Amino acid sequence: MSSLDHLLANNRAWAAARVAEDPEFFSRLVAQQTPEYLWIGCSDSRVPANQITGLDPGEVFVHRNVANVVVQTDFSMLSVLQFAVDVLKVKHVIVCGHYGCGGVKAALENQKNGLVDNWLRHIRNIARRNEEELSTLAPPAALDRLCEINVLSNAENLARTTIVESAWERGQPLQIHSWAYRLDTGHINVLDEPLTPERA
Ligand SMILES: [Zn+2]
Repeated sequence: MSSLDHLLANNRAWAAARVAEDPEFFSRLVAQQTPEYLWIGCSDSRVPANQITGLDPGEVFVHRNVANVVVQTDFSMLSVLQFAVDVLKVKHVIVCGHYGCGGVKAALENQKNGLVDNWLRHIRNIARRNEEELSTLAPPAALDRLCEINVLSNAENLARTTIVESAWERGQPLQIHSWAYRLDTGHINVLDEPLTPERA
């Protein structure tokens, strides 16, 4: 017997409950997925895209990495973005960070955690570029602000990918949203107006 039996039991109970509620639920999803949203979020276990937005399976395409970083050389992120925009034709890309992000904290405090430090270098660069503002804030507020600036910077990076630029050139409707989730309330803060061809 697997030590993960409880997870498998949960899975069977969940599937049975969904079918009891909506007998066509799974057969509809087998036919196709038509999500309107691409979520780019942190890998943090406390920020699950579907649950905090009340979306069902099939409704949001998801990419998560440590500290929701967007860099134009990340082929995993670019592949997800390209498929979501060009094939699924999502209408909204949401970059959602969260306050108290461990990855952003490690970058801000210049902690040494090994390989992941290379990934977090992107955030350290953002912190350096915003040192003037961050240095005026107490440590918890500086972390919260860097979590926000990281999201805004990554949304801008998204707008400058060839994938988003090409979609906008074709006139495809696509907005990029900058959000930050509060672990202590479960609420999402909207950090800025969505990026569109006019606002990018
Ligand atoms: Zn995080």
